[in-house]
Amino acid sequence: MKKQIQAIQSYTPEESLSDVKQRYGLKKLVRLSANENPYGTSPHVKEAVLKWSFGEENRYPDSYALKLRTAVASKLKVDAQRLVFGVGLDEIIAMFSRIFLESGDEVLVTDPTFSEYALHAEIEDAQVIKIACNKQTGKYSFATFLDKITPKTKMIWLCNPNNPTGTYEEVSDIEKFIQKVPSSVLILIDEAYINYVTDNEEPSSLRLIEKFENIAVLRTFSKVYGLANYRVGYAVVSARIAAYMEAARLPYNLSSIAQVAALAGLNDQSFVDQSVAKNKIERERWEEFLTVNNIKFYHSQANFIFLQYPTADALAEELLAHGYQVRRGLKPNWLRITIGEPEDNRKIQSMIVKKKNS
Ligand SMILES: *Cc1c(COP(=O)(O)O)cnc(C)c1O
Repeated sequence: MKKQIQAIQSYTPEESLSDVKQRYGLKKLVRLSANENPYGTSPHVKEAVLKWSFGEENRYPDSYALKLRTAVASKLKVDAQRLVFGVGLDEIIAMFSRIFLESGDEVLVTDPTFSEYALHAEIEDAQVIKIACNKQTGKYSFATFLDKITPKTKMIWLCNPNNPTGTYEEVSDIEKFIQKVPSSVLILIDEAYINYVTDNEEPSSLRLIEKFENIAVLRTFSKVYGLANYRVGYAVVSARIAAYMEAARLPYNLSSIAQVAALAGLNDQSFVDQSVAKNKIERERWEEFLTVNNIKFYHSQANFIFLQYPTADALAEELLAHGYQVRRGLKPNWLRITIGEPEDNRKIQSMIVKKKNS
């Protein structure tokens, strides 16, 4: 066994909904702890999955995911050879770490951010350097990132919008940053929540892949597409990096049914647009609620809100007892709450007010 494995704290996955329900004796449980789409999945996905021809169970799936690949490439207007698919973005994160990191390499991340960047770096025995976000705004401290770059720096993770802060960085700021980073450093831009950005008309860093060879843009079908259970994510990279990744990728990582579901989801833009529009309205109502009640939060461009509450754990426990599961443990006295359906948001907000006044 690799010596570093002993010291690693594994990722804490979501418990199954039925287990949590049983433990708390709940009839209804609304999970707002995993940033899943509360509006479900496009009905086109169900149609496509039901139509998928049984009779090919004994055959391996299309390793190249050609139909899905072609559709994603044409939607993003990139060369199909620049796409690498994974079993969720999780697998892509693991793949990058496995392929590029060696013992002693340094990896820079913002703090707090998605924990899997650090987890996979540690598995490869790389050193993770955490750079605190701007306390006031939750945004990246790009100047500090530049200060921390050494000859050992191999990777920089940029999560945009960032999980859990929800904050968004302008592409122009990211570009200025990349220009100052040595081209030997790989910069990974995780855009799991990019569809939810509404402050900016063209929020994605995708256009930067034409300018810089050392960057990757990462996307997933798990969030706005409502397909978390099917496990499909992908990276857009240079043809050279794509070739490295194809060499190390498990040949049959995506099942046919996952490919079919993702393709149907991709083709239903109206489901995405509606989810984004509803999320925007509710996100604004959350921000207004928190402002009025003098509760610290970061301006979110995602489908969740990160807020500071003096007794955050007790609040989370109380919400759970009422059937609302939110995410704690990401930063002391802060909670991350997925923006749910209007009625659920109102209920949670009224519980917060009650607790605050008690
Ligand atoms: C949810 C999430 C992922 C993982 O997505 P999957 O495709 O479900 O594996 C990756 N990055 C961020 C920032 C996420 O929040």
